[in-house]
Order: sequence, then C-alpha cells, then structure tokens
Amino acid sequence: MKEKWSVGAVKTIGLIGGMSWESTTEYYRIINEEVRDVLGELHSAELILYSVDFFIIEQLQHSGEWDEAGRILADIAVKLEQAGADFILICTNTMHKVAQQVEDATEIPIVHIAEPTIRSIQEQRLTQILLLGTRYTMVEDFYKGRYAGSGIEVQIPDEPALAEVNQIIFEELCLGVIREQSRARMLAIIEAARQKGAQGVVLGCTELELLIRDEDVTLPIFKTAELHAKYAAKEALR
Ligand code: GLU
Repeated sequence: MKEKWSVGAVKTIGLIGGMSWESTTEYYRIINEEVRDVLGELHSAELILYSVDFFIIEQLQHSGEWDEAGRILADIAVKLEQAGADFILICTNTMHKVAQQVEDATEIPIVHIAEPTIRSIQEQRLTQILLLGTRYTMVEDFYKGRYAGSGIEVQIPDEPALAEVNQIIFEELCLGVIREQSRARMLAIIEAARQKGAQGVVLGCTELELLIRDEDVTLPIFKTAELHAKYAAKEALR
C-alpha cells in the first residue's frame, strides 16, 4: 500500500520570479526535480510562484527607482506569505539590492541568493573568484558585500568587458536569445580572469547558466540559480 501523504508535510516555497522568466522556468524545474529525487514516485514541490512583468522592473532599475521596485517585490512577498509560503526566494541576483526591504515586509524568511553560492565556494576551498552578472551586481556592494568575511576575494571584469556582460544579459539572455558568439566572448573574459588568479566563476545572474555550461569552462562554475533552487528544495524537505 502507498504511504499516506498530506499537504503541508513539506514546506511551501514562495518564488518571486519573472526576472526574467527565462531563468524562473529553471527554478521551477530544478526545485521539482530535487523533490522528486528525494521523495520519489509522483512527488513534486509545494510552491507558489508570483511572476512579475519584467519590463516594469527593468524600467525602475534603469531609472534608479529601487525603492519603488522594492515596494513592488515587498507587496508580492506579503501576498505569498498570505497564500501560505513558508519562505521566499527572489529569483534574481540583481533584485537582492532590495532584499532587505522585502524581508522587512514579511514575517517569513528570504533565502538570500548569495548564501548557497558562498557556501559552495567555501566547500571547494577557493579563495578567489570571478563574478559575472549585471552591472549592478558586479559593481555595487549589495551583492559583493555578502562575501565580506567569507575568505573569498571577488574579481570583476574591467571595462569594456563589464559592459558587454551586462549587455548580453539584458539584450540577449533575458529575451531567450543564446548566441555562440556571446558564449565565446564570455569564455574569453573568464580566461582573462583565470590568468589574473581567479580559481572559479560565479554566474551571478540567473540567466548566465543558460549560456555558460560546465563543459565550456575549465574552472569550476557556481550557478546561482541552480544552487539557490537546490537549497530551497532541501529547505522545504527539512
Ligand atoms: N536575472 C538577472 C540576475 O540574476 C538579471 C535580471 C534582473 O535585473 O533582475 O541578476
């Protein structure tokens, strides 16, 4: 006879997604696969996804209206909490710029996207990594600041490579466009960083793992969306 299983036996994951949906679909797939791998049979995750219109969020980023963007995400977090989420993931690195604002709006925890990545780098005992992501993530402190005290030094590309990475994210990957030429450019940027001492690469934008695959790079790569999603599945089952 089959084991009796009821709703609520695992935690409900709240996802704030759509930034962009190209990577949110990966979260959905990975979380469900992880839960199935552990529980077997027809098991899948209990999750609630609120997917935003990324056009609006990107406009607010561009015009520097982060408070307004934070307010939108905070309102969504409250809705997810009211709908029964036990904890929340913001499915983008960049929007962690407003993670505190979102956290302050709810009683339930936000799992910060940097944490599973930092843990994974530490497990591999690496002390210097290249961070690739949007310009906001690479240049500003809200994300890199999480590495303070971790024993990991963060390298970012110089201009114009930094601008190219940002452009590939917003003009290609967030629109589902995968170009061989952009992959080659990313690999050249990674190789330059390796020569400057980088021992690993953090794909600090959730779409980058759609372009850069393990087999493309000789250095270990840390996929922030995959690590975040796997961590969430584990947390839901705990
Ligand atoms: N998904 C991206 C990230 O992880 C970029 C899109 C955004 O600006 O939120 O940063």
